[in-house]
Amino acid sequence: MIEAGVYPNEFTSVKLLGVCSFLGLGMGYGKVLHAQLIRFVVEMNLVLKTAIVDMYAKCEWVEDAIKVREAVNALVDMELSGILPNNFTYASLLNASSSVLSLELGEQFHSRVIMLFRGIALPNVISWTSLIAGFAEHGLVEESFWLFAEMQAAEVQPNSFTLSTILGNLLLTKKLHGHIIKSKADIDMAVGNALVDAYAGGGMTDEAWAVIGMMNHRDIITNTTLAARLNQQGDHQMALKVITHICNDEVKMDEFSLASFISAAAGLGTMETGKLLHCYSFKSGFGRCNLASNSLVHLYSKCGSMFNACRAFKDITEPDTVSWNVLISGLASNGHISEALSAFDDMRLARVKLDSFTFLSLIFACSQGSLLNLGLDYFYSMEKTYHITPKLDHHVCLVDLLSRGGRLEEAMGVIETMPFKPDSVIYKTLLNACNAHGNVPPEEDMARRCIVELDPCDPAIYLLLASLYDNAGLSVFSDKILKLMRERGLRSRPRQCWMEVKSKIYLFSGREKIGKNEINEKLEFLITEIKNKGYPYQENEDKLYHSEQLALVFGVLSVPTSAPIRKNKNSLICTHCHSFIMLVTQFVDREIIVRDRKRFHFFKDGQCSCRGH
Ligand SMILES: [Zn+2]
Ligand SMILES: [Zn+2]
Repeated sequence: MIEAGVYPNEFTSVKLLGVCSFLGLGMGYGKVLHAQLIRFVVEMNLVLKTAIVDMYAKCEWVEDAIKVREAVNALVDMELSGILPNNFTYASLLNASSSVLSLELGEQFHSRVIMLFRGIALPNVISWTSLIAGFAEHGLVEESFWLFAEMQAAEVQPNSFTLSTILGNLLLTKKLHGHIIKSKADIDMAVGNALVDAYAGGGMTDEAWAVIGMMNHRDIITNTTLAARLNQQGDHQMALKVITHICNDEVKMDEFSLASFISAAAGLGTMETGKLLHCYSFKSGFGRCNLASNSLVHLYSKCGSMFNACRAFKDITEPDTVSWNVLISGLASNGHISEALSAFDDMRLARVKLDSFTFLSLIFACSQGSLLNLGLDYFYSMEKTYHITPKLDHHVCLVDLLSRGGRLEEAMGVIETMPFKPDSVIYKTLLNACNAHGNVPPEEDMARRCIVELDPCDPAIYLLLASLYDNAGLSVFSDKILKLMRERGLRSRPRQCWMEVKSKIYLFSGREKIGKNEINEKLEFLITEIKNKGYPYQENEDKLYHSEQLALVFGVLSVPTSAPIRKNKNSLICTHCHSFIMLVTQFVDREIIVRDRKRFHFFKDGQCSCRGH
């Protein structure tokens, strides 16, 4: 190019420097290029200088000292020319120093970078944030923290990028928190809210509460952030407690906080609390907002009351995609399969946009209703007709559909050929379906895949496989699997069952030892009654009462006879408890609704709505 008499301008130079920098050729071609730039008196602007610094910083196989010297030269050059740096410059300069072994040299370099920053007359929030981010990125927590403190002292308000820089780094978060405690200063609301979000989002709830306690002023964002994060962690009970704080702080609930609380009540399946929130929503005029209304439909479906859910849906003036999705999945998980499918037809007629969740609910509905071919049609129409690419969740549903229909080979084929790495959920789905239908997959093959290839830390898989082999009379395999589970140090998650009585939540956990109290006595009485009436009752294998049995008796004793007994479980209901509840409802005239991890069971007059699914 030069031979042809065309000289490089600043654009060509930046490109060439970029190549040298990328290939780490700084000390060879890079230096020649730098010299050429000086020779052809290319005008040195900020972009060009940054590129030079970057090139020297990235060159490999060169002693650190030389590398830094070159970078420092570029820095000095920049200082002399009076060009103000931007955030890319800082990043490049700091890159140069980050690989330096000598601490002393590094420190000198950092202070020069800061000096360069001081050259800016009145740095705005963007300049401050660039420098803070540059230091934080290179692990210079101390420096970036003090710069942040200095920025606040200079009364420059941090923006969301500054806060996310600080709070994206756990060390910095803790340092900021510690500083606030020490200085006893009032926390700026934006900083406080961001701290709450960072702690609660990382599962450090105690720290989040501590920050809230220190804030003199809290707004609705503080509370909504906390409630939403607690919901994400599955701590719905704690999320509901945030309501008390809102009342104490005398701040007004908005639709976002209301939706968070309603979804907390839905997570717990607590109808009474949910109804109170529904009243509040109505009185405060949130009925017109889809966010709150959609969460109400979700709430009632999760409480097993589709009557109320449908009513809440009808109250929505303009149902959107989420409204329809919530309705369809609610109907499906409550066992109203044909209603779910006709709601889908209505959704299409209303010309509401379908999304991947719509199909997830549809395929789930078909699988629950044993509608194998229809389910397959929906699955394959997703991509073909609606141009929605099926995700892993859809494949899990497909495996469920096929294996429930007894087409195990095809289900395993889906796992093998799908464009995703199979996770433990998909194997659990397959095993659960096999268990329910007494199908045993090729034993060696299955065990190898689930336990060896997947190396799961989910004990449920081991237990499922073991019980599958036990039922098939292959106890050698099941012993092997349980041994492996113990060797890997895995223990099963405690099974819990809970219910709400008079707005209070009662928890029944694990398998309780048989003892003497009102609940146990009543339970024994019921079991004797079952036996006396000649029904086939089998003792639990482990001679312990299951949490469902205890919760059932507690419900019979404490819920008014006219109301249904609603229970929630964090795992699937076991076959033993399922048949126990069916037997009890033969002679105790109560409606019992159990929501397990997957679906609802409505027990009445010795029958269950799931028909043994
Ligand atoms: Zn049980
Ligand atoms: Zn059932």
